[in-house]
Formats: sequence, structure tokens, C-alpha cells
Amino acid sequence: MRIVLIGPPGAGKGTQSALMAKKLQVPHLSTGEILRTVCAEKSEVGLQAAQYMERGQLVPDGMIQEILFKELCSPACEAGYILDGFPRTVPQAEEFDAWLERRGSSLSLVLEFRVTEEILLERLADRGRVDDGREIIRKRMQQYDDLTHPLLEYYKDRGILHTVHGGVGSAEDVFAKIEQIIENVS
Ligand code: AMP
Repeated sequence: MRIVLIGPPGAGKGTQSALMAKKLQVPHLSTGEILRTVCAEKSEVGLQAAQYMERGQLVPDGMIQEILFKELCSPACEAGYILDGFPRTVPQAEEFDAWLERRGSSLSLVLEFRVTEEILLERLADRGRVDDGREIIRKRMQQYDDLTHPLLEYYKDRGILHTVHGGVGSAEDVFAKIEQIIENVS
């Protein structure tokens, strides 16, 4: 299965994608993690990416797509994958659909993680990552609302969008709901 997760930072995508990856036996790819690894390598592209990330801005589409699409062609991704952090904008989603179509492929499911802003701020404050300063958090939320939220309509129109309430119940409760959705689409 090829699954995309959509939700604001702190909505629980990381925790749930690890559980899903284990159940489905497919890799979990987080573009944020991939980019942080690239940055740590201090290659030319890594240094460029870091400049955007430090400011809480998205890296250019061309950059993330080149890095990610290469990864998706690896044998490890043949049986499917869980994508967390990409696509992040409608243009990225359009590029991704075109890329998949060229390979005779398509997405199986898009999972929206819906959670209240209050819970998000609480979780992000606890997480305390370097780029999680309060101002940056606001910027990332704003960015999510402006750029990523429209993706929900995009995938709804394609009939593959499902929603889980990420802030309700324990991680196990949320996962049980996700398992049901997966069973219904497979
Ligand atoms: P995340 O861990 O998903 O919050 O991502 C951390 C940072 O990586 C983001 O603030 C962006 O700067 C960058 N990033 C991750 N995914 C993407 C993407 N699909 N497009 C552009 N930038 C991205």
C-alpha cells in the first residue's frame, strides 16, 4: 500500500506511522527526517536545505522531490510505503500524482490527522526540538493552514481521503481506528 499522512506538526503522525509501517511491513519515510539527515551530511544540497529549515520555511519543491523520488524507486519501497511530510502543498501533490502515473501506480490511501490547536501547542512545547521555538511553531502552523490544508480538498475530490482524530484517546486507540480504515480499503 502507498499511504500519505497529512496533519499539522505534532498531530501524532510520527508515532502512528511507525505502528503502521510495522503492521504493513513497508518503510516509513518522513521527509523532515530525510532532510535533517541530508543537512547533517553538510553536502551542498544539505547546506541549502538547512537555510530554509532553520527559518521554518519549506525547501523548494524541486529539491525535496529529487531526494524523495530517488528513495521511492529503491527496492525497499516496491511493496509500498508510508509517507509523512510529503506532499505538503497542492503543486507537490500534482507532481507526485503525475510521477506515480508515469510508473503505472497511484496512492492507496491518504490519512488526515485532525487535532485541536491547543493539543498541538502543548505537544510541540514538550518536544522542544531546536526548530520548535514558539514563533517558529506559529509559522509552521500558519504554513500548514495556508499550504497543506488545501491538500485535503485535493484528495477528497479523488475519493481517497480518510480522517482520524489524532488527539482523542491513547496512541493505541488511534491506531485501532487506522487499522479499520486500512482493512476497509484493502
Ligand atoms: P517536518 O519534520 O515534517 O516538520 O519537516 C521539517 C522541515 O523540513 C519543514 O519545516 C520543511 O522545512 C522541510 N520539509 C519537510 N517536508 C517537506 C516538503 N514536502 N516540502 C518542503 N519542505 C519540506
